[in-house]
Amino acid sequence: MSYSETPESHEYEPIHRPGSIQPHGILFAISPIELKIEQVSNNTHNYLRKEPEDFLGQPLSVLLGAKQVETIEQLLAQGKTKFNFLKLSIPTLEGERYFDGIFHRTEATIILELEPIDSLADDSSLSFYSLSRAVLSKLRSGSGLAEFLQLVVKEIKSLTGFDRVMVYQFDREGAGCVVAEAKREDLWPYLGLHYPASDIPQEVKQLYSRGWLRLIPDVSAEPTLLVEREPSPTRPRLDLSLSVLRSVAPCCVEYYQNMGVAATLVISLLREGQLWGLIACHHQTPKHVCWEIRAACEFLGEFIALELSHFLKREESDYMAKLQSLQSQIVRSILRTDNLKEALVQPKPRLLDLVGASGAAICLDSEITLVGDTPTVEQIRCLIKWADPQIEDFLFCTSELPKLYSEASAFFKVASGLLLLRISQLRRYYILWFRPELIQTVNWAGNPNESIQVQADGSLTLCPRKSFKLWQETVRLTSRPWKKCELDSALNLRNALVGIVFSQAEELAKLNQELEHSNRELASFAFAASHDLKEPLRGIYNYSTILLEDYTCALDEEGIECLETIKGLSVRMEKLVNALLRLSRLGKEELELKATDLNKLLARVIEVFQASYQNSQLEIRIPRALPTLQCDPVLVNEVFSNLLSNALKYNERSKSWVEIGYLDSSEQKASELLLTQHSSLNPIVFYVRDNGIGIQKEYQEIVFKLFKRLHSQEKYGGGAGAGLAIVRKIVERHGGRIWVESTYGEGSAFYFTLKSVKIFSEQTHF
Ligand code: ADP
Repeated sequence: MSYSETPESHEYEPIHRPGSIQPHGILFAISPIELKIEQVSNNTHNYLRKEPEDFLGQPLSVLLGAKQVETIEQLLAQGKTKFNFLKLSIPTLEGERYFDGIFHRTEATIILELEPIDSLADDSSLSFYSLSRAVLSKLRSGSGLAEFLQLVVKEIKSLTGFDRVMVYQFDREGAGCVVAEAKREDLWPYLGLHYPASDIPQEVKQLYSRGWLRLIPDVSAEPTLLVEREPSPTRPRLDLSLSVLRSVAPCCVEYYQNMGVAATLVISLLREGQLWGLIACHHQTPKHVCWEIRAACEFLGEFIALELSHFLKREESDYMAKLQSLQSQIVRSILRTDNLKEALVQPKPRLLDLVGASGAAICLDSEITLVGDTPTVEQIRCLIKWADPQIEDFLFCTSELPKLYSEASAFFKVASGLLLLRISQLRRYYILWFRPELIQTVNWAGNPNESIQVQADGSLTLCPRKSFKLWQETVRLTSRPWKKCELDSALNLRNALVGIVFSQAEELAKLNQELEHSNRELASFAFAASHDLKEPLRGIYNYSTILLEDYTCALDEEGIECLETIKGLSVRMEKLVNALLRLSRLGKEELELKATDLNKLLARVIEVFQASYQNSQLEIRIPRALPTLQCDPVLVNEVFSNLLSNALKYNERSKSWVEIGYLDSSEQKASELLLTQHSSLNPIVFYVRDNGIGIQKEYQEIVFKLFKRLHSQEKYGGGAGAGLAIVRKIVERHGGRIWVESTYGEGSAFYFTLKSVKIFSEQTHF
């Protein structure tokens, strides 16, 4: 079926110019114009009872009749270079001898090969048509590739009568595997066996790619040398690439003999000009196959190759469709959830099947999630570091990782193959897929047949058993190679992921834009409205004052009361409008950030506060000095003023107090709310705490809304209900948050942070 030689032997030996033929026929090399015999095989006597010298330098007519020569001339004139066939009758001293005459043109020579036959009579059962048709009709019934190939070997076996017929398929690296076999029952099966690329040297593969069929009826037959008319040591030997009789290289003979093979027939299976595989037929005793059957086999080889191409294309497109469907499933999962990792990982086989891997790792920044058989997280971290600079077009892939990256020798069993996909460099997002060492996936077909062992005589010629060893050595530390469609599948996943992220980001940006726009519109509306309202309000107030002062006599008591109410309402409305104006200005104005000593700021607040509330009995506590911060002092002043005045207003106790301070880190941790909402940010948390009336739980959010009051207008000194809304706006402009914790009837504590601030010092004491 195949053979191997040392590189030294086949590299320099011109396999296609052996200078000899197999002895089961005669070869004539003829000059194309004069049709003179230039070379002849040294076995003419066996078949024609004449010596080579009787032919050399003679015209072809010395061998064939005028009619036959004419036919050959006509065929050659048609420009046919490959395999013309004639049934020939040649007179000898012992009467007519019959031959199959096969001729073709090579370089500047016509090669005529004669194979003896018994008679010229046409056997219709051996006609090319009937032989091919019978096989073709059976081959058509195959449905899948494996089934089709099985039918092929079965039919070729019954057509040729060989003991064993196999389909031998090459992989990308040239290594082969027996993928279908029909054999005599008593023979050891070769199905599933793998052979290294070196088993069939490149040169031999090239010959197989050029000729569709090669017959060796008797492997052990002594080759017959070619005799030349004018021998020349410098002229290359005759090119016998397409010769049907070309002799067998000695190493090849040995290989077959080691396998117990006496005769072989090899049919090439070409796909898009490349040798996809071979149909190899073996026989344990010498066996000749007549030209008609060989021609049928050759034709079938072409048909099979075409069918094969069709199957493979379908298989490939089925596989690609499967990969695409897996990918769209993943994309759908990602769109459905905001957890990228989970969407990729669940269900696990999906991510692996996407590129045909047995392990995967998802690396999202520092977090690595493993799926299937993989190296450890630490090993993967180092691997990414090593592979990242080698990424091209978002991918790095290899099927021999341990050969490129020595650290991989620690995990070659699970990761001799690596496919690394970079999703985002900025975020250090990667997906890695792993393939195990190929050896683990090879079916070694158990114990190789004893009969095909070769003695350990130190010879470099390989027998199948030795070649297994060699194969194991050759393929160690490599994985099944990555197919282009698998790489495309990985890239498509990346594109989809990036697309999703982009479209989400774009959507967000659009929403943001819209939001900003409507915010701006709202703010300018609030500003314009409140600003413009002030003037008519002032008018209402002024005119009601004039009416009350100058027209009292013209009004009765009820009229005066109504006017008083109008005046009061306009005062209240002005307060509301002012608050609205303040709030809308707060949204527009730039912050004037300054390093602000909060102790000094608070001292000023309290000073003003005490001047306004001279009679109040409020005790103001400041347990420790406050820090110096980068903030807008005017606005932060407003925060403290508002909170302080509320603390005083909403307190009915005789001994009321308010405490202003900030939490230290241990206190921060003690607060459940802080832990959940604010600890990660870790800014300073200020508080203003009182022993006032408190706020019920359900109102603790509402109090920060504009114009929301928890009491009637008259109670607790009245107010616009805008103070806390303004405070919240200021805090938020500083990047902070405000919230309240309170026990109804006992007191409240307003907490706030000013996130964007910087701390300069906490030493100044109040
Ligand atoms: P107002 O002008 O009414 O004080 P705020 O916005 O400052 O408006 O407060 C909203 C409401 O929150 C107040 O009407 C009051 O009911 C409640 N409130 C504010 N501060 C306190 C506090 N320290 N104790 C209890 N209730 C408070």
